[in-house]
Amino acid sequence: MSTDFAATKRQFLLPQGVIYLDGNSLGPLPRGVEQRLQTTVTAEWGRMLIRGWNAAGWMEMPARVGNRIARLVGAEPGSVVMGDTLSIKVYQALASAVEMNPGRRVILSDTGNFPSDLYMADGLVRTLGQGYALRTVAPEAVEEAIDGTVAVLMLTEVDYRTGRRHDMARLIRKAHAHGALVVWDLAHSAGAFPVHLARDGADFAVGCSYKYLNSGPGGPAFIYVAPRHQDAARPALSGWLGHAAPFAFDLDYRPGQGIERMRVGTPPILQLAALDAALDVWDAVDLNDLRARALALQDRFIAAVEAACPALTLATPRDHESRGSQVSFRHPEGYAIMQALIAEGVIGDFRAPDILRFGVTPLYIDEADIDRAAAILAAIMAKGTWDRPEFKTRAGVT
Ligand SMILES: *Cc1c(COP(=O)(O)O)cnc(C)c1O
Repeated sequence: MSTDFAATKRQFLLPQGVIYLDGNSLGPLPRGVEQRLQTTVTAEWGRMLIRGWNAAGWMEMPARVGNRIARLVGAEPGSVVMGDTLSIKVYQALASAVEMNPGRRVILSDTGNFPSDLYMADGLVRTLGQGYALRTVAPEAVEEAIDGTVAVLMLTEVDYRTGRRHDMARLIRKAHAHGALVVWDLAHSAGAFPVHLARDGADFAVGCSYKYLNSGPGGPAFIYVAPRHQDAARPALSGWLGHAAPFAFDLDYRPGQGIERMRVGTPPILQLAALDAALDVWDAVDLNDLRARALALQDRFIAAVEAACPALTLATPRDHESRGSQVSFRHPEGYAIMQALIAEGVIGDFRAPDILRFGVTPLYIDEADIDRAAAILAAIMAKGTWDRPEFKTRAGVT
């Protein structure tokens, strides 16, 4: 293993005494981000003012940073651009894909998908009318449900609750054999394990930067369009910065070159600067090393929890190929148990109705963290310390 994970861990600022197992929801703060934001705010925004768009390269940032993400998801250079939130990018990719497959009316997805993706698809279907429909099946039934009526298969590779992972290459092959395009949501894939968009023949993909890529709350999303589709993909959200010549201020819309057309409006420069600095951590990371170590740490956690906590049921597949980078357990009192854990400095999260989620990423989690987290969880279960009113009151954000 060539990656030095003790060194990557030192690059994160984590509060003393906290074991952070929620990087799948909001990545922690890389040290380099603080300094970079300081520079962008004072030296760029503060001194350059509007000149920063040219002088500091702000206008090129969505594509430049997109290229850094492209490397992490196995995408061709010039095929990824940053902007907006993931929900917006889902809509955008889906709308373009649907339009590229005229004559078909079905968007196929699964019931394990993140609700926002399904809501966005539902909104698109209502806007389109004309018999368009969103069809959802159980995750295990997706492959079987792909047929000649499907315009677009829209899937999130890793289930946000259970951590179950779809077989991307296999589903793309089946979809293409039936004439369907595929939109992948990589929210729980990018930065979690190697992804091979180009090798596997993906059409469209989207993902967020604030989970495993550690860009901070509200960090911009990314969109990938395969080079072979870039001239055919028409942007449904045809904003001025996706125009071929934004500063010509034409009254008519003409889509920009390549992936640039997937830009919409003014990019969030402070958030992009944070992401750019957060990505420096990845320069020294081999994604195959990351994956091998993540699986070993997950297995260690699963073994320790199963040995000490018989009341918790593993919700994540045991098969390595079929899981992402989180481990989930079920318990009817999952919410209260998670609150008790957080009170002891072990931060994971809860997803209704009964899932305790633990993100495991080797960038800043090591064996000692795993052992301590499992021991604290075991003590909470043995003593029943979760069974207190203060742990059962639900906060607005779980
Ligand atoms: C986290 C997540 C989102 C969140 O979308 P935002 O628009 O960034 O709030 C959407 N889809 C999936 C699959 C996610 O995991």
